Amino acid sequence: MTCLKDKLRQRIMSDGPLSVAEYMTLCLSDPQFGYYTTREPFGRKGDFITAPEVSQMFGELIGAVCLGAYESLGAPEAVQLVELGPGRGTLMADFLRVAVQRPAFLNAARLNLVEMSPRLRQVQSDTLKTAPLQPEFRDHFAQVPDGPLIVIANEFFDALPIHQFVKTASGWQERQVGLDDKGNLVFGVGVARLPDTAIPAGAVSASDGSILETQPAANAIAEEIAARIAKHGGIALFIDYGYAKSAAVDTLQALYKHSYDDVLAHPGEADITAHVNFETLALAAQAAGAVPLPLLEQGEFLLRAGLLERAGSLGAGKSPHQQDSIRDAVERLAAPDQMGSLFKVLAVTTDGIPFAPFDPAP
Ligand code: SAH
Repeated sequence: MTCLKDKLRQRIMSDGPLSVAEYMTLCLSDPQFGYYTTREPFGRKGDFITAPEVSQMFGELIGAVCLGAYESLGAPEAVQLVELGPGRGTLMADFLRVAVQRPAFLNAARLNLVEMSPRLRQVQSDTLKTAPLQPEFRDHFAQVPDGPLIVIANEFFDALPIHQFVKTASGWQERQVGLDDKGNLVFGVGVARLPDTAIPAGAVSASDGSILETQPAANAIAEEIAARIAKHGGIALFIDYGYAKSAAVDTLQALYKHSYDDVLAHPGEADITAHVNFETLALAAQAAGAVPLPLLEQGEFLLRAGLLERAGSLGAGKSPHQQDSIRDAVERLAAPDQMGSLFKVLAVTTDGIPFAPFDPAP
């Protein structure tokens, strides 16, 4: 039994069942017992390895692509460089190593890290200690100063709370976390319903028991960023595992010590995430006046950005063992059966700005 489990039990006994969104929020960010507050989730010892932790090439290629975008934006004299949920700060360290080749960019940029965990802020500061830009920490994107933007979010949106609805005879009812007779956490359904207008075409004929997810928190942040981009110019890169079209799917998952786990088994100890619905994320950005470019799978994005060329130059003159590990990293990041297809990259831009390696908006 974890301490968070006790806290959740007491809360449910006094206030009633939690929505899935409330459950996710408490598991990930409870100030006392939350997963990001208390754990070291990343790297080989943690519960998962993210793309920047697989290889330095990931952050370097993102850096190169963003420097290209900075030129497309007309090389503004001041630009807000923003990363949402920077983890250990690895991606940004790799990005800034590439940025050293463009002093004009470094002179123009202010580095904003949006991170809620005080512990991870410390890790990020340490990682960036010798970097050419020093971070300014923000609790929310809204605190980032105005101006042209370059925004990066890798595996950030999947950690934001989603709501789930279960198809029943009387419509789509909100899924909740309550208690059984023995005091165990169990799923149930509440009275809140999803209005008919909110049901995507792909879910209209779903059978009873099907699950539909909504991500108001993720969409609201995408909208906020897009509104700034529409006003001040800029680009954003949203990289995550997710799906391209809305459908009735249950993607809520828990990872505990590198294995999938029962979502209710280890609150606060397991990482709880959901796949990102890129269709609604793009629609939210568009509604705010920015332009979402056609979605790319991560593998395609990295190959277009020059992954093989970068791997070649990184491996030149290295030992066979080092070359093998670079080859493994390329596979892991880009192969369709690894991170290449499940992970997707959504670019959001100012109208009419070319943003290689993305195709222009149709
Ligand atoms: N981008 C990193 C880490 C991904 S994990 C990588 O690719 O390795 C998710 C990150 O988002 C963590 O740093 C976590 O603390 C942060 N985070 C999660 N929810 C957040 C929120 N609501 N506000 C700010 N940061 C958040």
